[in-house]
Amino acid sequence: MKIAVLRETAEGERRVAATPETVKKFVGLGASVAVESGAGLTASIADADYAAAGASVADRAATLAGAEIVLGVQGPAADTLSGVAPGAWLAAALNPFADRARIEGYAAAGLEALAMEFMPRITRAQSMDILSSQSNLAGYKAVLDAASVYGRAFPMMMTAAGTVSAARVFVMGVGVAGLQAIATARRLGAQVSATDVRSATKEQILSLGAKPVFVESVAGIEGEGSGGYAGEMSPEYQAAQAELVSSHIAKQDIVITTALIPGRPAPRLISAAQVASMRPGSVIVDLAVESGGNVEGAVAGETVVVNGVSIVGHRNVASRLAADASALFSRNLFNFLSAFWDKEAGKPVLDAEIGDAIRLTQGGKIVNARLLPAA
Ligand code: NAD
Repeated sequence: MKIAVLRETAEGERRVAATPETVKKFVGLGASVAVESGAGLTASIADADYAAAGASVADRAATLAGAEIVLGVQGPAADTLSGVAPGAWLAAALNPFADRARIEGYAAAGLEALAMEFMPRITRAQSMDILSSQSNLAGYKAVLDAASVYGRAFPMMMTAAGTVSAARVFVMGVGVAGLQAIATARRLGAQVSATDVRSATKEQILSLGAKPVFVESVAGIEGEGSGGYAGEMSPEYQAAQAELVSSHIAKQDIVITTALIPGRPAPRLISAAQVASMRPGSVIVDLAVESGGNVEGAVAGETVVVNGVSIVGHRNVASRLAADASALFSRNLFNFLSAFWDKEAGKPVLDAEIGDAIRLTQGGKIVNARLLPAA
């Protein structure tokens, strides 16, 4: 049973899908692991570290030759995976809604593509959840990115030369990333407020010492969609939210937006007029910029300055903490594969609950319900 670990080729991708720690554990399960030379360099892992953990380090062709499981961070094109065993698994963040042709390529190549971001949100899969592990780091980094652009300090400082007031930080979208953003901004001494469409987050906001800002005027609202994710809100709710945000946002120094709706464009939370209402020197970080953006005027991969307000739109924020992001991503993959490891077969065998949720292609076809026309 051979596991191949690829060097990522997507622009700006610095993470890697296995670390020496997980290589050692896979070897402990009886697998052989091949790592493409240079795979870990941008995450501060040398080829020699993989070799010391028991991997063979080779060029791409030798890494892939005969592999039954291929691990990646992002999904490579099927035509770059030649040489793998028939029916080999590809486990990575495959971004299934964004690039249908690539998924069809996996089917045509006979691969079994496993989209790690489709992992169901059930208790036993928490340790396999790449969305949580990567969002957590992104939420932290978003605050540091804001702090580095902001021309003022976050904490209140009382000095002999006078007082510096605390920054006001507003977090929109209180999922995994938002919670970490609140916690990080609090640690830096900011005055933090936050909002979400799921009322369950109110308690969480309070428990982190921040102030909840919620639409109370629309009766019967509850933004909870399926699987703990948010759904799309009614026009009435959106109007009430826009009004509430307008009055609040004009008083904020930093806004971090993290709102996502699975399989749909990110909700628009901040209009150009609301950006214009903020003071020059304010900073907005849009963590949803690659999913269409929460902020009007945000551009993926750029920092745009409008009337002195900086709108930061880094792509792939977790990759900006490549070493930790790789360590957690790699553990998610190991936790997933090891949980299903069948000692007799010498390889993992998936059950229906998780297998059906994450498997995109099998037997030459797209098989995932979320990608089929009926869905
Ligand atoms: P996400 O990344 O999908 O979205 C981020 C946040 O944006 C969510 O809290 C969402 O409610 C919010 N949002 C969406 N539309 C909005 C709007 N119009 N205005 C304001 N906010 C909006 O969310 P996530 O980080 O994946 O977390 C979603 C939930 O799932 C959380 O409760 C989290 O704790 C839970 N979760 C459970 C598991 C598990 O059980 N295995 C794992 C991870 C997360």
